[in-house]
Amino acid sequence: MSGWARERPLRDGATEVTFRGRGLALRSGARLILLVCPLCSQRNAKRGAERGICEWCAYVPSPDEAEPRETGCG
Ligand SMILES: [Zn+2]
Repeated sequence: MSGWARERPLRDGATEVTFRGRGLALRSGARLILLVCPLCSQRNAKRGAERGICEWCAYVPSPDEAEPRETGCG
């Protein structure tokens, strides 16, 4: 599985986060870039991603649910 999220390196300071284990976003400071929607599991369009809103179902994930993505363990 390859998405546009992997086509470019992460910017400095950006952290990959999930929402209770679902979806995928990049958190950079107070900014949240929604890459994969945790609600409908669709890969987000770039325009929506940068607004932190799902272009498919208009879901806006809560920053409170963002958790750093586990890396290095499968
Ligand atoms: Zn969605």
